[in-house]
Amino acid sequence: MKIVVLVKQVPDTYEDRKLDTAAGLVDRGACEPVLDEINERALEVALRYRDGNKGTEVVLLSMGPEGTASALRKGLSMGADVAVHVLDSALSGADLGRTAAVLAAALRATGFDLVIAGNASTDGGGGVVPAMVAEHLGLPHLTFLDAVEISAGTVAGVRATEHGSLGVHALLPAVISVTERSAEARFPNFKGILKAKKKPLQVLSLAEIGLDPAFAGAGRSAVVTAAERPARTGGTRITDEGTAGEQLADFLASARLI
Ligand SMILES: Cc1cc2nc3c(=O)[nH]c(=O)nc-3n(C[C@H](O)[C@H](O)[C@H](O)COP(=O)(O)OP(=O)(O)OC[C@H]3O[C@@H](n4cnc5c(N)ncnc54)[C@H](O)[C@@H]3O)c2cc1C
Repeated sequence: MKIVVLVKQVPDTYEDRKLDTAAGLVDRGACEPVLDEINERALEVALRYRDGNKGTEVVLLSMGPEGTASALRKGLSMGADVAVHVLDSALSGADLGRTAAVLAAALRATGFDLVIAGNASTDGGGGVVPAMVAEHLGLPHLTFLDAVEISAGTVAGVRATEHGSLGVHALLPAVISVTERSAEARFPNFKGILKAKKKPLQVLSLAEIGLDPAFAGAGRSAVVTAAERPARTGGTRITDEGTAGEQLADFLASARLI
Protein backbone atom coordinates (compact mmCIF):
# COMPACT_ATOMS: atom_id res chain seq x y z
CA MET A 1 0.00 0.00 0.00
CA LYS A 2 1.17 3.53 -0.77
CA ILE A 3 0.14 6.15 1.78
CA VAL A 4 0.77 9.82 0.98
CA VAL A 5 0.74 12.23 3.91
CA LEU A 6 0.08 15.90 3.12
CA VAL A 7 2.37 18.05 5.25
CA LYS A 8 2.84 21.78 5.56
CA GLN A 9 5.60 23.85 7.11
CA VAL A 10 4.20 26.52 9.44
CA PRO A 11 5.56 29.19 11.81
CA ASP A 12 6.10 27.67 15.28
CA THR A 13 2.93 28.15 17.32
CA TYR A 14 5.03 28.56 20.50
CA GLU A 15 6.53 31.77 19.14
CA ASP A 16 4.97 35.16 18.55
CA ARG A 17 3.52 34.75 15.05
CA LYS A 18 3.25 37.79 12.79
CA LEU A 19 1.21 38.84 9.80
CA ASP A 20 2.87 40.64 6.88
CA THR A 21 0.12 43.23 6.55
CA ALA A 22 1.53 44.61 3.28
CA ALA A 23 1.48 41.22 1.54
CA GLY A 24 -1.52 39.88 3.47
CA LEU A 25 0.39 36.68 4.24
CA VAL A 26 1.93 35.02 7.27
CA ASP A 27 5.37 36.53 7.90
CA ARG A 28 7.34 33.30 7.57
CA GLY A 29 10.64 34.95 8.49
CA ALA A 30 9.31 36.16 11.89
CA CYS A 31 9.65 32.83 13.67
CA GLU A 32 11.05 29.33 13.46
CA PRO A 33 9.45 27.26 10.66
CA VAL A 34 8.35 23.79 11.80
CA LEU A 35 6.47 20.77 10.51
CA ASP A 36 2.85 21.40 11.52
CA GLU A 37 2.06 19.33 14.63
CA ILE A 38 -1.23 18.08 13.14
CA ASN A 39 0.74 16.73 10.17
CA GLU A 40 3.07 14.84 12.53
CA ARG A 41 -0.06 13.06 13.81
CA ALA A 42 -1.19 12.34 10.24
CA LEU A 43 2.25 10.85 9.60
CA GLU A 44 2.03 8.80 12.80
CA VAL A 45 -1.22 7.22 11.57
CA ALA A 46 0.58 6.15 8.38
CA LEU A 47 3.69 4.90 10.21
CA ARG A 48 1.66 2.78 12.66
CA TYR A 49 0.02 1.02 9.73
CA ARG A 50 3.39 0.50 8.01
CA ASP A 51 4.93 -0.86 11.26
CA GLY A 52 2.49 -3.78 11.12
CA ASN A 53 2.24 -4.17 7.34
CA LYS A 54 5.40 -4.91 5.36
CA GLY A 55 5.45 -3.53 1.83
CA THR A 56 3.74 -0.28 2.84
CA GLU A 57 5.37 2.89 1.52
CA VAL A 58 4.87 6.23 3.31
CA VAL A 59 5.38 9.33 1.15
CA LEU A 60 5.36 12.94 2.35
CA LEU A 61 3.98 15.58 -0.01
CA SER A 62 4.21 19.32 0.45
CA MET A 63 3.73 22.44 -1.62
CA GLY A 64 5.66 25.31 -0.14
CA PRO A 65 8.61 27.66 -0.34
CA GLU A 66 12.29 26.63 -0.44
CA GLY A 67 12.68 26.09 3.32
CA THR A 68 9.94 23.41 3.29
CA ALA A 69 12.73 20.86 2.76
CA SER A 70 13.61 21.03 6.49
CA ALA A 71 10.04 20.06 7.49
CA LEU A 72 10.19 17.19 5.00
CA ARG A 73 13.53 16.02 6.47
CA LYS A 74 11.91 16.02 9.92
CA GLY A 75 9.13 13.77 8.59
CA LEU A 76 11.73 11.51 6.97
CA SER A 77 13.61 11.30 10.29
CA MET A 78 10.35 10.22 11.98
CA GLY A 79 10.20 7.31 9.52
CA ALA A 80 8.60 8.33 6.20
CA ASP A 81 10.29 6.65 3.23
CA VAL A 82 10.25 9.36 0.57
CA ALA A 83 9.41 13.07 0.31
CA VAL A 84 8.03 15.06 -2.59
CA HIS A 85 8.24 18.87 -2.65
CA VAL A 86 6.28 20.91 -5.19
CA LEU A 87 8.35 24.06 -5.50
CA ASP A 88 7.59 27.04 -7.70
CA SER A 89 8.00 30.64 -6.52
CA ALA A 90 5.00 31.62 -8.68
CA LEU A 91 2.86 29.68 -6.16
CA SER A 92 3.70 32.15 -3.37
CA GLY A 93 0.45 33.17 -1.64
CA ALA A 94 -1.48 30.37 -3.36
CA ASP A 95 -5.06 30.35 -2.09
CA LEU A 96 -6.88 27.26 -0.87
CA GLY A 97 -8.33 26.36 -4.26
CA ARG A 98 -4.99 26.66 -6.02
CA THR A 99 -3.19 24.70 -3.29
CA ALA A 100 -5.71 21.86 -3.55
CA ALA A 101 -5.43 21.76 -7.35
CA VAL A 102 -1.62 21.59 -7.15
CA LEU A 103 -1.69 18.86 -4.48
CA ALA A 104 -4.22 16.83 -6.48
CA ALA A 105 -2.03 17.07 -9.61
CA ALA A 106 1.01 16.01 -7.56
CA LEU A 107 -0.94 13.06 -6.13
CA ARG A 108 -1.86 11.94 -9.64
CA ALA A 109 1.86 12.05 -10.48
CA THR A 110 3.03 10.14 -7.37
CA GLY A 111 0.15 7.65 -7.21
CA PHE A 112 -1.39 6.57 -3.89
CA ASP A 113 -3.86 4.25 -2.19
CA LEU A 114 -4.61 6.49 0.78
CA VAL A 115 -4.03 10.22 1.41
CA ILE A 116 -3.83 11.45 5.02
CA ALA A 117 -3.97 15.19 5.88
CA GLY A 118 -4.44 17.32 8.98
CA ASN A 119 -7.96 18.69 9.52
CA ALA A 120 -6.64 22.29 9.48
CA SER A 121 -3.25 23.93 9.45
CA THR A 122 -2.11 26.05 12.41
CA ASP A 123 -1.32 29.07 10.20
CA GLY A 124 -3.76 29.37 7.29
CA GLY A 125 -6.36 27.36 9.15
CA GLY A 126 -8.73 27.11 6.17
CA GLY A 127 -9.60 23.52 7.02
CA VAL A 128 -10.81 22.70 3.52
CA VAL A 129 -7.78 21.60 1.50
CA PRO A 130 -8.28 17.85 2.12
CA ALA A 131 -11.93 17.97 1.00
CA MET A 132 -10.99 19.98 -2.09
CA VAL A 133 -8.23 17.50 -2.95
CA ALA A 134 -10.72 14.62 -2.64
CA GLU A 135 -13.15 16.48 -4.91
CA HIS A 136 -10.45 17.05 -7.57
CA LEU A 137 -9.61 13.35 -7.50
CA GLY A 138 -13.25 12.22 -7.36
CA LEU A 139 -12.58 10.19 -4.20
CA PRO A 140 -14.39 9.56 -0.91
CA HIS A 141 -13.26 11.83 1.94
CA LEU A 142 -13.53 11.06 5.66
CA THR A 143 -13.08 14.29 7.59
CA PHE A 144 -12.01 15.21 11.12
CA LEU A 145 -11.16 11.69 12.31
CA ASP A 146 -10.17 11.27 15.96
CA ALA A 147 -9.29 7.61 15.40
CA VAL A 148 -8.36 5.77 12.21
CA GLU A 149 -8.32 2.10 11.24
CA ILE A 150 -6.68 1.18 7.94
CA SER A 151 -6.98 -2.25 6.31
CA ALA A 152 -5.93 -3.61 2.91
CA GLY A 153 -8.86 -2.19 0.95
CA THR A 154 -10.65 0.14 3.34
CA VAL A 155 -10.25 2.96 5.84
CA ALA A 156 -12.55 3.60 8.78
CA GLY A 157 -12.62 6.10 11.60
CA VAL A 158 -14.47 7.95 14.31
CA ARG A 159 -15.52 11.56 14.00
CA ALA A 160 -16.77 13.49 17.03
CA THR A 161 -19.79 15.72 16.52
CA GLU A 162 -21.49 18.18 18.84
CA HIS A 163 -24.06 15.55 19.83
CA GLY A 164 -22.06 12.31 19.79
CA SER A 165 -19.78 10.44 17.46
CA LEU A 166 -19.98 8.91 14.00
CA GLY A 167 -18.27 5.76 12.78
CA VAL A 168 -17.36 6.28 9.13
CA HIS A 169 -15.88 4.02 6.48
CA ALA A 170 -14.70 4.19 2.86
CA LEU A 171 -13.18 1.96 0.23
CA LEU A 172 -9.65 2.81 -0.91
CA PRO A 173 -8.44 4.90 -2.64
CA ALA A 174 -9.64 7.66 -0.31
CA VAL A 175 -8.60 10.93 1.36
CA ILE A 176 -8.89 11.36 5.13
CA SER A 177 -8.11 14.17 7.56
CA VAL A 178 -7.22 13.69 11.22
CA THR A 179 -7.65 15.87 14.30
CA GLU A 180 -5.37 16.65 17.23
CA ARG A 181 -7.05 13.78 19.12
CA SER A 182 -5.57 11.26 16.68
CA ALA A 183 -2.32 9.31 17.18
CA GLU A 184 0.36 10.98 19.36
CA ALA A 185 3.40 11.47 17.11
CA ARG A 186 6.69 9.69 17.78
CA PHE A 187 9.98 11.57 18.21
CA PRO A 188 12.70 11.02 15.62
CA ASN A 189 15.57 9.00 17.13
CA PHE A 190 19.28 9.41 16.34
CA LYS A 191 19.26 6.55 13.82
CA GLY A 192 16.21 8.05 12.11
CA ILE A 193 17.88 11.46 11.84
CA LEU A 194 20.98 9.95 10.23
CA LYS A 195 18.93 7.79 7.85
CA ALA A 196 16.76 10.77 6.82
CA LYS A 197 19.76 12.51 5.24
CA LYS A 198 20.02 9.71 2.65
CA LYS A 199 16.31 9.27 1.92
CA PRO A 200 15.00 10.60 -1.40
CA LEU A 201 13.55 14.13 -1.43
CA GLN A 202 12.17 14.82 -4.88
CA VAL A 203 11.56 18.41 -5.99
CA LEU A 204 8.90 18.80 -8.69
CA SER A 205 7.96 21.84 -10.78
CA LEU A 206 4.43 22.58 -11.96
CA ALA A 207 5.31 21.24 -15.42
CA GLU A 208 6.52 17.99 -13.86
CA ILE A 209 3.13 17.38 -12.28
CA GLY A 210 1.34 18.11 -15.53
CA LEU A 211 0.28 21.71 -14.84
CA ASP A 212 0.91 24.70 -17.07
CA PRO A 213 3.27 27.09 -15.17
CA ALA A 214 0.86 29.95 -16.07
CA PHE A 215 -1.69 28.18 -13.84
CA ALA A 216 0.10 29.48 -10.70
CA GLY A 217 -0.89 33.09 -11.27
CA ALA A 218 -4.03 32.85 -13.38
CA GLY A 219 -7.30 34.22 -11.91
CA ARG A 220 -6.40 33.71 -8.28
CA SER A 221 -7.98 35.36 -5.25
CA ALA A 222 -6.07 38.17 -3.55
CA VAL A 223 -5.94 39.55 0.00
CA VAL A 224 -7.33 43.09 -0.28
CA THR A 225 -6.64 44.31 3.28
CA ALA A 226 -4.90 42.79 6.27
CA ALA A 227 -4.62 44.09 9.84
CA GLU A 228 -3.15 42.75 13.07
CA ARG A 229 -5.68 41.93 15.81
CA PRO A 230 -5.74 44.91 18.23
CA ALA A 231 -3.91 44.37 21.53
CA ARG A 232 -6.17 43.42 24.43
CA THR A 233 -7.32 46.35 26.56
CA GLY A 234 -7.22 46.36 30.38
CA GLY A 235 -10.92 45.63 30.98
CA THR A 236 -13.11 47.00 33.81
CA ARG A 237 -12.36 46.22 37.45
CA ILE A 238 -15.32 46.18 39.86
CA THR A 239 -14.57 46.58 43.56
CA ASP A 240 -17.41 45.42 45.77
CA GLU A 241 -18.65 48.26 47.94
CA GLY A 242 -22.17 46.92 48.14
CA THR A 243 -23.15 47.55 44.52
CA ALA A 244 -20.91 45.07 42.68
CA GLY A 245 -23.88 42.87 41.69
CA GLU A 246 -25.74 45.80 40.13
CA GLN A 247 -22.60 47.01 38.33
CA LEU A 248 -22.00 43.53 36.97
CA ALA A 249 -25.61 43.22 35.77
CA ASP A 250 -25.39 46.69 34.13
CA PHE A 251 -22.17 45.69 32.40
CA LEU A 252 -23.66 42.43 31.07
CA ALA A 253 -26.80 44.25 29.93
CA SER A 254 -24.76 46.96 28.16
CA ALA A 255 -22.89 44.22 26.26
CA ARG A 256 -26.30 42.62 25.47
CA LEU A 257 -25.21 39.43 27.22
CA ILE A 258 -28.32 39.24 29.42
C1 LIG B 1 6.04 29.88 -2.25
C2 LIG B 1 4.88 29.63 -1.28
C3 LIG B 1 4.63 30.55 -0.25
C4 LIG B 1 3.56 30.32 0.63
N1 LIG B 1 3.29 31.23 1.59
C5 LIG B 1 2.23 31.05 2.41
C6 LIG B 1 1.89 32.03 3.42
O1 LIG B 1 2.55 33.07 3.56
N2 LIG B 1 0.85 31.76 4.27
C7 LIG B 1 0.12 30.59 4.16
O2 LIG B 1 -0.81 30.38 4.97
N3 LIG B 1 0.43 29.68 3.22
C8 LIG B 1 1.44 29.87 2.35
N4 LIG B 1 1.74 28.93 1.41
C9 LIG B 1 1.03 27.66 1.41
C10 LIG B 1 -0.35 27.67 0.78
O3 LIG B 1 -0.76 28.89 0.31
C11 LIG B 1 -1.31 27.12 1.84
O4 LIG B 1 -0.77 25.84 2.15
C12 LIG B 1 -2.70 26.95 1.40
O5 LIG B 1 -3.33 28.17 1.20
C13 LIG B 1 -3.46 26.04 2.37
O6 LIG B 1 -4.16 26.78 3.35
P1 LIG B 1 -4.48 26.23 4.80
O7 LIG B 1 -3.18 26.02 5.49
O8 LIG B 1 -5.47 27.16 5.39
O9 LIG B 1 -5.17 24.77 4.52
P2 LIG B 1 -6.01 23.76 5.50
O10 LIG B 1 -7.18 23.36 4.71
O11 LIG B 1 -6.23 24.42 6.84
O12 LIG B 1 -4.98 22.59 5.67
C14 LIG B 1 -5.45 21.31 6.10
C15 LIG B 1 -4.43 20.25 5.73
O13 LIG B 1 -4.24 20.21 4.31
C16 LIG B 1 -2.87 19.89 4.03
N5 LIG B 1 -2.21 21.04 3.37
C17 LIG B 1 -2.60 22.36 3.38
N6 LIG B 1 -1.70 23.10 2.67
C18 LIG B 1 -0.75 22.24 2.23
C19 LIG B 1 0.43 22.40 1.45
N7 LIG B 1 0.81 23.60 0.99
N8 LIG B 1 1.18 21.29 1.20
C20 LIG B 1 0.79 20.05 1.66
N9 LIG B 1 -0.30 19.85 2.41
C21 LIG B 1 -1.07 20.93 2.67
C22 LIG B 1 -2.21 19.59 5.37
O14 LIG B 1 -2.34 18.22 5.65
C23 LIG B 1 -3.05 20.43 6.33
O15 LIG B 1 -2.94 19.94 7.66
C24 LIG B 1 2.77 29.14 0.51
C25 LIG B 1 3.02 28.25 -0.52
C26 LIG B 1 4.06 28.49 -1.42
C27 LIG B 1 4.29 27.52 -2.54
